[in-house]
Amino acid sequence: MERLGFEAEHEAFRESVRRFVTEHVVPHREDWERTGRVGRGLFRAAGAVGILGVAAPEEYGGGGVDDFRYNAILSEELATADVLSAGLGLSLQADIALPYLLHNCTPEQAARWLPAVVSGEAILALAMSEPGAGSDVAGIATTAARQGDHYVVNGSKTFITNALNADLIVTAVKTDPSAGRKGISLLVIETGAAGFSRGPKLAKVGQHAADTAELFFDDLRVPVANLLGEEGRGFYVMMKHLAQERLAVTVQATAQARRAFEICVEYVKGRHAFGQPIGSFQHNRFLLAEMKTEVEIAQTYVDRLLLSHVRGELTAVEAAQGKWWTTELCQRVVDRGVQLHGGYGYMAEYPIARAWIDSRIQTIYAGTTEVMKEIIGRSLGL
Ligand SMILES: Cc1cc2nc3c(=O)[nH]c(=O)nc-3n(C[C@H](O)[C@H](O)[C@H](O)COP(=O)(O)OP(=O)(O)OC[C@H]3O[C@@H](n4cnc5c(N)ncnc54)[C@H](O)[C@@H]3O)c2cc1C
Repeated sequence: MERLGFEAEHEAFRESVRRFVTEHVVPHREDWERTGRVGRGLFRAAGAVGILGVAAPEEYGGGGVDDFRYNAILSEELATADVLSAGLGLSLQADIALPYLLHNCTPEQAARWLPAVVSGEAILALAMSEPGAGSDVAGIATTAARQGDHYVVNGSKTFITNALNADLIVTAVKTDPSAGRKGISLLVIETGAAGFSRGPKLAKVGQHAADTAELFFDDLRVPVANLLGEEGRGFYVMMKHLAQERLAVTVQATAQARRAFEICVEYVKGRHAFGQPIGSFQHNRFLLAEMKTEVEIAQTYVDRLLLSHVRGELTAVEAAQGKWWTTELCQRVVDRGVQLHGGYGYMAEYPIARAWIDSRIQTIYAGTTEVMKEIIGRSLGL
């Protein structure tokens, strides 16, 4: 089915992203899955072909084009090559963390950080979640107490993507613990200072190449010059950026579901049982017919969300709808895909098995399905 809103320049970019994925991601996936993190060179390679900073101003080396369809193309190509989880850190940087810098940096901060981020020399992470607060962002306990021209930060973060590789971490802290959400601020923590430490890589069920770890702050001194946006406005800045984060996961889930469907069609043509291809049994044909229908309907909604976002009109509710529905769809599709593969679907070397374990997290991170339904439900005036 034809995509909505993708022009010739997007398709040209898609070609270069496809080459990048083939040359710089696919050959390393197994190594990275073994070591539990991607190499830093991946970010430099992505920076060199302009993947990391499409939306960043040209004066900092970016593309100067604020069009999320380019970001979507990276996720789609990673999914098509069965390396979505190996590329997750790139998406985290380009789709989720970089916008915090682009929209909230002072000119001095932008000049200090953006060139290295866009070129891939500096790796970004976004640290909101804590051991005691995930869905309830306002419940974070990490504090930042002002002392002269520094904040003294104490606390910890967990489940942080890019945590081991990161150089700059956009971190949610409480600058006024008595003020609830109005006491939350964002600091850019430059890693390496005394009082900053990282935990070991977390032993996840899937997404083995994605770098995920805990972070600890023990009397860490962060210059006031690293405050991102206004003090006390951090919660509202996060809420604003969450719509794009959710759109990013929506794109990934839909691309992964599409890829799973394609893998299954191939498989059921080649595998025989009772003297015929397993795809020729009516039950399996119907399963695949349902998968195709649902993926294409999801794709149409995703393309509309992308266009709406390009126009600056994407709402939190629309993003939440896309996020919960496509991530749940992806799980249905990959689960059926495993069943269609029989025992081979349970073997880690098969892409459908990896898609099954890697996609499970999608209904949880970037806001759970239940939190998405809360956002939508609250908008109904009930
Ligand atoms: C691999 C991975 C990568 C991640 N990357 C990052 C990252 O880079 N940065 C970052 O900050 N975080 C990251 N996270 C954290 C992720 O965003 C949180 O895990 C997620 O928001 C859920 O929070 P929680 O784990 O504390 O679960 P909880 O908030 O404790 O939720 C537990 C259950 O309670 C339900 N629940 C909670 N509130 C409600 C409610 N109001 N109504 C109904 N049900 C509710 C939830 O839906 C869920 O089912 C990552 C997590 C993982 C596993």
